[in-house]
Amino acid sequence: AAAEAEATRRRLHNELVELRGNIRVFCRVRPHPQSAVRCLPGGAALSLALDGREHAFSFDRVFAPGAPQQQVFAEVSELVQSALDGYHVCLFSYGQTGAGKTYTMQGTPDAAGAGVIPRAIELILSRVQALAAQEWAYTLEASFIEVYNNTLRDLLADGAARSAEAGRIHDANAIKHAPGGGHTIVAGARRVPLRDAAHASELVARASEARACAETAMNSSSSRSHCVFMLYIAGAHAASGAQLTGCLCLVDLAGSERLDRSLAEAERKKEACSINQSLSALGDVFGALSSKSSHVPYRNSKLTYLLQPCLGGSGKTLMFVNINPEPASAQESLCSLKFAAKVNGCETGARGGAKRNVALAAAPAPSAAGGPGGSEVA
Ligand code: ADP
Ligand code: MG
Repeated sequence: AAAEAEATRRRLHNELVELRGNIRVFCRVRPHPQSAVRCLPGGAALSLALDGREHAFSFDRVFAPGAPQQQVFAEVSELVQSALDGYHVCLFSYGQTGAGKTYTMQGTPDAAGAGVIPRAIELILSRVQALAAQEWAYTLEASFIEVYNNTLRDLLADGAARSAEAGRIHDANAIKHAPGGGHTIVAGARRVPLRDAAHASELVARASEARACAETAMNSSSSRSHCVFMLYIAGAHAASGAQLTGCLCLVDLAGSERLDRSLAEAERKKEACSINQSLSALGDVFGALSSKSSHVPYRNSKLTYLLQPCLGGSGKTLMFVNINPEPASAQESLCSLKFAAKVNGCETGARGGAKRNVALAAAPAPSAAGGPGGSEVA
């Protein structure tokens, strides 16, 4: 009976995804003593104060500062598990450096602080064990890949924690996709068969050391690279002969901020947003997907080409937009929220005219937050 309930729950989840589209956006605001951000009642909207104006946004979910890791994970666990049903699933964190991307994805070493990656691995491993009782046999393989300046590096390569050159993938065409909308293959990157939870945390630690090593070599403490964890999932049901392959990609994106300070100032004056090339390529892919364009420019960056099976087709994507609420970061936060709103297609307007989505209709109207200056109009 438990197995049946479980199957029903997952079927309902999958139907919901089909109904509402395959891209979700969750916003997470990190704690800070000073805050320009107000999270609005209902858990799906927030308001950002900048230069005397209030900018209101709604998303599928908004996590206020202090939302524990376990609560955040509870909201994505269905999505994570659907990789075991043969879906290509991708979760990524977007936002400026210091906004909480790594905290969300990786977390801290203590049990309560564990982020999405360790919790997802743990959940998948325990589900695989439970499914074994129903004669499903799964194999799991893990890769960790860094994308920096549109080049790839295998974070699990020998010596990657000691030399920034180790693991560098020189083949420009290393990324391939299995035929028929299958998963991504990265030639030259290790796929390590995953034994258990302890082995997984060892791999996470190795990748994180390798990433830190490259940052030191770049003499940069800000994350300018994307870190992609890929879990390859293959399941087989002996009795029926059924087989499936799924993939879970968990991505800690590069900081979305403009790196050139003086340029950032100029941008600020224009109130324009500018982001690094592969993040804008990601934005272009979402733009093409949401306008149902016949051409989706996946190939414009290594990042989007790597994530292609998750972003389009039958893939499922969840984006965390991480926000540092300190007033000094309000301009960067506005840029991040605008990017996320574009992905979500649900930027709200205090003066009406903007699109409202289901989550917003259920929540108290964020328009109440719009001061006399008005707010965002899509
Ligand atoms: P990013 O990866 O976006 O540059 P980090 O994840 O490194 O940012 O976060 C910056 C700092 O803020 C870290 O010290 C991190 O532990 C802390 N932090 C971020 N988000 C939270 C949160 N939700 N709760 C508590 N601390 C957080
Ligand atoms: Mg980080």
